[in-house]
Amino acid sequence: MPNDLPTISCSPTNRSSVALTRASLFKFVGLLAGVFLLACGSLVYLAQKLDGAEEVKSAFYTRKAVQSLENSLRSTVKDYAFWGDAYKHLHTEVDTDWAYVRQNIGTTLYTDFGFRGLFVVNDLNRTVYSVVDGEKVSVEAEQWLEQSIDAILDKAREGAESETPTTTFVNIGGIPALIAAAAITPGTDPTVKTDDRSASVLIFVDPLDSAKLAAMGRDFGVEGLHLATADDIHSQSVYPLGETGAAGSLHWSPHRPGLQLLALGLPLVGIAALLVCLMTWVILRRTTAAAQALDASYLSLQCSQADLATSEARFRDVVEASSDWVWEMDGGWHFTYLSERFEEVTGLSREAWIGAAMDDLLRTELGTVSQWLSIPNRRPDISVQCRYLDTNGQERITRLSARAMAGGGFRGTATDVTEEVKARRRIEFLSQHDALTGLPNRTRLQEFLDGKLKAVPTVEQPLVMLSLDLDRFKPVNDLLGHAAGDLVLNQVSSRLAECVRHGDLVARIGGDEFVLILTDVGSQEEVETLCRRLIESVEEPIEVSEQEVFVSASIGIAMAPNDACEASELLRYADIALYEAKAGGRNTWRFYAGDMNARIIERRRLESDLRFAIRNGELRLHFQPRYRISDGEMVGAEALVRWQHPERGLIAPDTFILIAEESGLILSLSDWVIDTACRCAAGWPEHLFVSVNLSPSEFKRGNLVERVQKALHDSAIDPTRVELEITENVMLEDATGALELMRTLKRLGVRIAMDDFGTGYSSLSYLRTFPFDGLKIDRSFLSKLVETDDQSIIQAIVGLGRALSLTVTAEGIETAEHLKLLKAVSCDEGQGFFLSRPLEADDFNVLVKARKSTGSPSRV
Ligand code: C2E
Ligand code: CA
Ligand code: CA
Repeated sequence: MPNDLPTISCSPTNRSSVALTRASLFKFVGLLAGVFLLACGSLVYLAQKLDGAEEVKSAFYTRKAVQSLENSLRSTVKDYAFWGDAYKHLHTEVDTDWAYVRQNIGTTLYTDFGFRGLFVVNDLNRTVYSVVDGEKVSVEAEQWLEQSIDAILDKAREGAESETPTTTFVNIGGIPALIAAAAITPGTDPTVKTDDRSASVLIFVDPLDSAKLAAMGRDFGVEGLHLATADDIHSQSVYPLGETGAAGSLHWSPHRPGLQLLALGLPLVGIAALLVCLMTWVILRRTTAAAQALDASYLSLQCSQADLATSEARFRDVVEASSDWVWEMDGGWHFTYLSERFEEVTGLSREAWIGAAMDDLLRTELGTVSQWLSIPNRRPDISVQCRYLDTNGQERITRLSARAMAGGGFRGTATDVTEEVKARRRIEFLSQHDALTGLPNRTRLQEFLDGKLKAVPTVEQPLVMLSLDLDRFKPVNDLLGHAAGDLVLNQVSSRLAECVRHGDLVARIGGDEFVLILTDVGSQEEVETLCRRLIESVEEPIEVSEQEVFVSASIGIAMAPNDACEASELLRYADIALYEAKAGGRNTWRFYAGDMNARIIERRRLESDLRFAIRNGELRLHFQPRYRISDGEMVGAEALVRWQHPERGLIAPDTFILIAEESGLILSLSDWVIDTACRCAAGWPEHLFVSVNLSPSEFKRGNLVERVQKALHDSAIDPTRVELEITENVMLEDATGALELMRTLKRLGVRIAMDDFGTGYSSLSYLRTFPFDGLKIDRSFLSKLVETDDQSIIQAIVGLGRALSLTVTAEGIETAEHLKLLKAVSCDEGQGFFLSRPLEADDFNVLVKARKSTGSPSRV
């Protein structure tokens, strides 16, 4: 007998006990093997589920990406086709000058949007206008597309009545492309004469090259989006373009969280199984040895209770070596056995729970465990996820598997999966939230919006969408750094979240862009109250490294069902309204109104007219004289630009400078102004200077110094006779860059004046630090003079100018009293309608000559 076996006293019944012990051991080993197999099976099942879910999700986003591309192209072609001017210039007669030369439907659609093909097909299905890769060419659309387009044309014409464009995918030389087509109609323009011919069709072709697919993938979080190759076609992650996929298919590489789980889980289960096998082998060997020893000794006595106890103890060792806990239950759903691991894993007492009802401890998602176990034909290999509270009252999650026992009741194992479930939830959260602020991201916004719109909002219970954009955020980022910018965004995010109710949504969808969805706001007044509150809370100072930063916000509002019932339309309308709010002076809000769309189209038209105007000499320069106040001598003139529009007449700069700035046309416009101003002034008497206005955006872009230098050189004017007027916005946006640039400009010999002094926040500090030669008091100070006590302010500004050796000019002198006052406070120079309105170049020359010959003083 091996000496590590306990000494046992044998009785005649012992032999059958040994056999029994071995048999139970085998059964238990069988059970354990089952548990492991079950664990592996569950792991594989879970992994497949995870991968499957990921597959479905990525396929969903790929579909969304393609749909979004289609919607966007559809709405672009709609803007251009349902438009009175397009009808006149492309259908009634084909006016390539209007379309191509004046850029209404020309190169910019290729350079800005990447549309490789633009075609107009007339009522006889002949292509009458084609632009390919931004160049006007003469080619039939069918020929370039290498396929018949009859079906597309028919469909586009069917949509003419309802102003519905059509899209379809085609394959051009191996590259899929999206085609959008719409019948050209007069839109809402009542002045257009229509004819009986069937409609002409406008066609835009947008190819899906790899750069575009990569960008789409990035926007929608789909990894590795590209054109499917022959090898990819058999993979699951394939999305056919169009109905049949004849145009090509997209392929991507979805994440494989299940595979990662398997890589981690299977080795662990394997190690546990190995350990159990090892122990079983040891126990088996010892039991066999014991039985053999007993047989050999011919003892008719059988093994004692102690032997049974030993093998039971060994079995328990095996059970407790596993990380799961093992349970048994009688037919009345009460625990009859709980392994020791139960205490370790749950922290609960075994004694207290043995005999207690299982349903009091565990609950499944769908009901009680007893209900689950009672499901007829329940498959024994499927486990269920249960929740329970541990000793600290924390919720934990366990996966329960169970098998019926021969004598009634159940037994099984419980695996703790709390961490795994938590990790999965975290991943889900991250994919739907913005990493910086923790707010929902675009994905979550889309889901939330879709859900709310499905519930069909009503006029009484509308769904309100606010599109909110921060004002003055960019300078914070540029001047104080990105860490400060992040801090501001976080602060703003939590303030926004505090302003809305539970159940509303605040999402961050871009740098400083937010979207709020409100479902519980009834009236317009309520919305306005909320907007006011939002803006006020954003405007509260934000402390960033012991400095106070001020930002503000503009808000655009669109509502379902009044404005639109589709998520993408609502977003677009809220954006349009936001744009209006910004144009309306910022830190304010605007509700979407139908005509805003028209205004945007109007603006786009003005922009394309302006591009043409600069090249075709429609700009004019007027000069407003500036006088020395003490003796009334003219000292120079300010150059002010105007636009002689062929249809609208003379347009003031306030209408088009902003458009020029936003579209980038300002550089060529300003080039013309500086050049013309210098050339004109070179012909004036030597003592007169010319003063030119510069835009803040010129300071950021373009080589301002070289441009000014060239104008000085070409006109051969003495640089000291040229003054540049800039506003403090220049310094607000990039103070260091501006200082550098101003110093270089001054080295050329020109003078620099601060325009509109007193309208900004920090003019004073800038005046001290930057190398100005003069300042121009904004005309609002004189115009308010009657109501307020601004006389003392003007006096103070003149005093300040003197202290800093700056020439002070008053703008907007409209009356004799204004002039008297300025004389009284010894203001240096002045200009205004009372002295002279801005004059055309010829009239200005006449005025100069007249004064010279008669020496007659002005009103001054
Ligand atoms: P600003 O630089 O403040 O120009 C003075 C504006 O005040 C001019 O308007 C002028 O006609 C007007 N003004 C002059 N005297 C009086 C007066 O007694 N009473 C009143 N109420 N107004 C007076 P304008 O020409 O319409 O120009 C408006 C703004 O457009 C200018 O304001 C300037 O900021 C911008 N601007 C004009 N020309 C150019 C240019 O060539 N380039 C750039 N970037 N901006 C320009
Ligand atoms: Ca000015
Ligand atoms: Ca001014």
